[in-house]
Amino acid sequence: MITEVLTANQLKKEAPVFGQLSFDNHEQVVFCQDKDTGLKAIIGVHNTILGPALGGTRMYDYKTEWDALNDVLRLSRGMTYKAAITGLNLGGGKAVIIGDPKKIKTPELMKRFGEFVHTLGGKYYTAEDVGMETSDMDTVRQVTPYVTGISESKGGAGNPSPVTAYGVFMGMKAAAKFAYGNDALAGKRILVEGIGHVGEELVRLASEEGASVLISDINQERLSEVSNTYGVEIYRGDSLYAETADIYAPCALGATVNDETIHKLKVKVIAGAANNQLANENIHGTLLQKKGIVYAPDFLINAGGIINVYAEIEGYGRDQIKTKTENIYNTTLDILNKAKATNITANAAALSIAEDRIATRKNSTL
Ligand code: NAD
Repeated sequence: MITEVLTANQLKKEAPVFGQLSFDNHEQVVFCQDKDTGLKAIIGVHNTILGPALGGTRMYDYKTEWDALNDVLRLSRGMTYKAAITGLNLGGGKAVIIGDPKKIKTPELMKRFGEFVHTLGGKYYTAEDVGMETSDMDTVRQVTPYVTGISESKGGAGNPSPVTAYGVFMGMKAAAKFAYGNDALAGKRILVEGIGHVGEELVRLASEEGASVLISDINQERLSEVSNTYGVEIYRGDSLYAETADIYAPCALGATVNDETIHKLKVKVIAGAANNQLANENIHGTLLQKKGIVYAPDFLINAGGIINVYAEIEGYGRDQIKTKTENIYNTTLDILNKAKATNITANAAALSIAEDRIATRKNSTL
């Protein structure tokens, strides 16, 4: 699978629309624009064989529209495999809204976005992602039922981030068990990059277990807050990736395991919440394997959030959410063992299980 990003000029000159490198048999891509509210959004529906495509909306100040398109293509594809590996009857989709949420996000813009989601008639369900709050989903809910992650007071399952963090914590423990022979995080030095909704909760869980946590973020205020709340250390150097530690938890944006960082990494385990952590699944997955770094596939261990929002569609409760999220531990360990036994990367092992599930469903409905 190819995941490099072409330059805008290359894309314009050489690649027809479906030749975009991040296009991977996506079923539908919808461009949404509304000048009155300043909305520019793209909804990507990757695959609906297992069920309606579900995935959050990311609002981000992308440098170019090509970056936004690539992001939604990559993220929506990831959601297909996340739902499949987690055993949910959901397809993969995602949306991006172009712009700085602090500057352009208004209830009007969110409603207009919701109206576009509604036009898909339930083929795509949205939820929160980076740059979104539960209250934004409540606003979208005013114009469409095809939204999850709404407030508990409004009948939803609430903010999915704590559940995502719990799943990442479970996946991290499983990866530690695989790497060190036991899953205790006490005494382990953990680098948490990005201490937003998910990262902060992961910091709480890991430090409560006695891990020594080092935090990094571009938001200095958050760093002080989280450091004071949990008594964890703030990373002050200029290359987090080169830091000596046991575990690296990417919880900011994707592609932080890349050509530049991979040779610096000294950790034994990578387990975090960010989507698409490997800039290139094949190249960087294989390099990690060669370096002996245990990689817990992101789309597997960050599935807590989707489990949480799926509860809204299926109507199951807190206990089932917890049990399904805890099961990420077993799945992660199974996949790491399978990868070792078959000498493939953990990412490839997880993908092949997810692809088998989709293919089986497709064949059964033919
Ligand atoms: P968030 O926006 O709340 O937090 C992201 C944090 O990363 C912010 O504090 C931000 O300042 C920081 N950050 C941004 N760029 C950075 C950089 N270059 N270096 C260091 N820090 C940086 O987002 P979130 O909801 O916590 O999600 C974190 C990641 O997990 C995202 O990649 C998201 O797609 C993924 N994820 C989230 C969920 C969920 O339930 N929220 C579910 C699955 C996956």
